Amino acid sequence: MLNRADLRGRIPSAAELRATLPRAEVDVDAVLHQVRPVVDAVRDRGVEAVLEYTERFDRVRPGRIRVEPAELTRALDELDPAVREALEESIERARRVHADQRRTDVTTTVADGGTVTERWVPVERVGLYAPGGLAVYPSTVVMNVVPAQQAGVDTLVVCSPPQAEFGGLPHPTILAAAALLGVDEVWAVGGAQAVALLAYGGTDTDGAELTPVDMVTGPGNIYLTAAKRLLRGLIGIDSEAGPTEIAILADETADPGHVAADLVSQAEHDTLAASVLVTTSEELADAVDAELVHRVKQTKHTERVTEALRGRQSGILLVSTVDDGLRVVNAYAAEHLEIQTADAARVAERVRNAGAVFVGPYSPVSLGDYCAGSNHVLPTGGCARHSSGLSVQSFLRGIHVVSYDETALRAVADKVVALADAEDLPAHGEAVTARFGGA
Ligand code: NAD
Repeated sequence: MLNRADLRGRIPSAAELRATLPRAEVDVDAVLHQVRPVVDAVRDRGVEAVLEYTERFDRVRPGRIRVEPAELTRALDELDPAVREALEESIERARRVHADQRRTDVTTTVADGGTVTERWVPVERVGLYAPGGLAVYPSTVVMNVVPAQQAGVDTLVVCSPPQAEFGGLPHPTILAAAALLGVDEVWAVGGAQAVALLAYGGTDTDGAELTPVDMVTGPGNIYLTAAKRLLRGLIGIDSEAGPTEIAILADETADPGHVAADLVSQAEHDTLAASVLVTTSEELADAVDAELVHRVKQTKHTERVTEALRGRQSGILLVSTVDDGLRVVNAYAAEHLEIQTADAARVAERVRNAGAVFVGPYSPVSLGDYCAGSNHVLPTGGCARHSSGLSVQSFLRGIHVVSYDETALRAVADKVVALADAEDLPAHGEAVTARFGGA
């Protein structure tokens, strides 16, 4: 049921591959004109504008948008115990992995009396967005909050859309996840309005203040992404998350049932989700196709999955060798890449470009979505060629602290002057020579 392309014997260059490989197109620029007025209105009129857009887009008008602590406690108390246990496991594993990502400050002695220290300093105040339109993702709260907390961010604010069926509060599992993680500032606001409110701040109907944040992270739909694009600079952002992608590099040793299940698992996210199989085995390709027909009929979100799998962004690519397959997946730079080949660990070592790599038959992407300990906020759309997923590092800034004494500065003074003169910026050199009796 998947489109098929045969690249056996003729692997194009990486640039050609990037231009031709299947990929979803999301035109964020096309909605900027719709989102700019929302952002401007929230800047100018704060929560009053938020409530107007919330009524229009979310079809609910909450009396207040700051969620009271009692609501967080209630959501946690009423959470299904099995879901609570699973969230606790997910949080525990993510904390262990992210704790190991913490950076230590490094001081380099460049010359006698001259040092440069790189100090890693967390962002002070961060807004985390948890989507709540078509589906709710408590796992996304975990994946955003854990690295921020491990980085030492001072304050975290979670925003998620209000839900009419829950009296204008965000979905209870989002509230419960925030409570489990110890986040007590939650606002019921979604989409572009949420990003604008986080960036500009505002005062709730009852006087509660949302202080502007320094950075906003978290995935969302095209309107949220457009708002991130418009406000980038005023605030830091993590990335512009596009539709999810899975690529699987497999040979004849792979189990077609596992491969098909994993392709369906990501197609379930979104009709624009990409499910791509790169394989050396035509028999595997046929068997996966047959499995898909059977699986897609039985899966809960049949329509969404069918549209995603039939879309131009999904397909099977036949290659002659695993080496050729590596060239293809490196050019594609998938958000999630599974390696299901003989000696998968060695093949995985040769992956250059991927948001996350899942090695062997027992590391499916859905493990990483929830409970591997790794982060599931990953670069999409080929951005894995230059960017990483969310991590502790995303919430840290490296500040260079330069400390030279008189001797150290004197020793390098003529070099500074020479470079300043070469750039026709003599005052730069004079700032050094002035310290040693010069002009
Ligand atoms: P969302 O919370 O991103 O969007 C809902 C909000 O969109 C609403 O609050 C509403 O205010 C706003 N909105 C709706 N229509 C609008 C319009 N016409 N103009 C302006 N604003 C409008 O939830 P969603 O829509 O379900 O999208 C979530 C997205 O996040 C999906 O694409 C999903 O695949 C993605 N996601 C990605 C990851 C990841 O890690 N990459 C994780 C979870 C979700």
